[in-house]
Amino acid sequence: LCGGLAPQRELLIEHLHRLQDALGGLTRDDLAALAERLRLSQAEVYEVATFYHHFRVLDDGATPPRATVRVCTSLPCQMAGAETLLEQVRQALADDADVAVEAVPCIGQCHRAPAACVGQRQVAPADAAQLVALVRAGDTGPRALPATGAPARAEDYAQFERLLRGELRPIDVLRELEASGLRGLGGAGFPAWRKWVTVAGQPTPRHGVVNIDEGEVGTFKDWHVLAHDPRPALEGMLIAAAVVGLDHLWLYVRDEYHDVRALLAQELDALRARLADWQRRYPAAFGPRSAGGAEGGGALLPPGGPTIELRRGAGAYVCGEESALIESLEGKRGLPRLRPPITAVRGVYGRPTLAHNVETLWWLPTLLRDGGAAWAAGGVRGRSGWRRYSVSGRVRRPGVYRLPAGSTLNELIAAAGGMADGHRLYAFLPGGASGGILPAALADVPLDFDTLADYGAFIGSMAVVVLSEADRARDAALSLLRFFAHESCGQCTPCRAGTTQAVALAQAPMWDRERLSDLSHVMREASICGLGQAAPNPIDSVLRYFPHEVAP
Ligand code: SF4
Repeated sequence: LCGGLAPQRELLIEHLHRLQDALGGLTRDDLAALAERLRLSQAEVYEVATFYHHFRVLDDGATPPRATVRVCTSLPCQMAGAETLLEQVRQALADDADVAVEAVPCIGQCHRAPAACVGQRQVAPADAAQLVALVRAGDTGPRALPATGAPARAEDYAQFERLLRGELRPIDVLRELEASGLRGLGGAGFPAWRKWVTVAGQPTPRHGVVNIDEGEVGTFKDWHVLAHDPRPALEGMLIAAAVVGLDHLWLYVRDEYHDVRALLAQELDALRARLADWQRRYPAAFGPRSAGGAEGGGALLPPGGPTIELRRGAGAYVCGEESALIESLEGKRGLPRLRPPITAVRGVYGRPTLAHNVETLWWLPTLLRDGGAAWAAGGVRGRSGWRRYSVSGRVRRPGVYRLPAGSTLNELIAAAGGMADGHRLYAFLPGGASGGILPAALADVPLDFDTLADYGAFIGSMAVVVLSEADRARDAALSLLRFFAHESCGQCTPCRAGTTQAVALAQAPMWDRERLSDLSHVMREASICGLGQAAPNPIDSVLRYFPHEVAP
């Protein structure tokens, strides 16, 4: 079953997927055999298999399900009736003991809520009859995406070819990047050019990681970008490899995006063929690298180009955090690392690593074509460039909207066709589960990095969920707290125990302000990574802006 996969530890998760795809679940005998093949202890294989939500380790004597239906019950889907859908599917399949029906966190289809998966098929919006029909037909493969099989275009890889021809030098790219003000669009918002310079100044070999593990509740922009137009992101990745001097590249795709992974596999096959062609046409660009990255001279790319691997996540939100993602790439549990050292200095296999969200890379060809300053001028209210906002909830047309950086909620709602019929704005999440909950009165605040700190919120990956007067902020907060409790990796106590405590306390009709504030403080101050530090944001938001919902 694992033929074609090298028996290496770093491929443990790929092996587990291979086995589970074929067998429907993982028995202890399977895990023991895998441990032997990979020369790992059984404990190591077991701990990885049980860490990720998408692996099903079977009890002795249990049989794997014939099919699995996963119904998303995160906030946007919950608002669209996910609980009812889940119940309907459970009832409809009650006699099918060999079909597993599960409630799962966000699957990245919030614009078409309620969403569900049948095997590897995402269905959105989903209804019970449709899901049951797919199960009965065994129709569980990924769907084809709009960009699948798209013909080559003149603009594909045009900026990268300018680099290969020497029309554009690495230093020019860095200058344009700095002028653009492009920031990491996965949530952290760190200036891209600074990260590039840091990694380029590290010793070789250096690696690159493309983060396609968006799992923040309400975020689906990376799926949207790749589903419709993946090539600029791949071109951006090659440009980064040439400028920063990266030898090995990994694309890590969340497991819910089987359709995107299939599309990328196709695109990467074509790209590898193009790399061979480019090496024939521009031999001077391929060869031994010198230290010093962009300014060190020598060839841009190693002979044959950088190695490129496509990897598959396994249902762990925390792996969107770059150090957890790197642990996962190395075949381990996705436990965030203590920092420093930062990823730019010690990343994959301890080597300097440039890790970027996929949308950040997507913008590179555009800003090199138009110039960094022109791209920066796209922003409004003193912000630089453009943003893709995922908009879901109570609007007429949920979806991904490309608007100037610094746009407001009112502008986003207008772009999304206005509020849904019969709904009036009450509150909104500016940055998914982690970014807090703000009241309607702040609908004119610019939504961008650094603009929301005074309001106790942040924009993160720009996942905007709109709530109306039909919703309560405390219900949204409880939903988000449950999400964090489910996704905590368990490595540190403030987060592991704190998220569970928070769920219990937030269910009380009247909130214990003192205890919740104390808990929030401890989690924020003492958690290792951003998940635990941001998990109390919904609590703080409700206490600050919506006290009438939780106090007499
Ligand atoms: Fe894991 Fe939570 Fe600690 Fe992050 S904060 S390391 S997710 S337990």
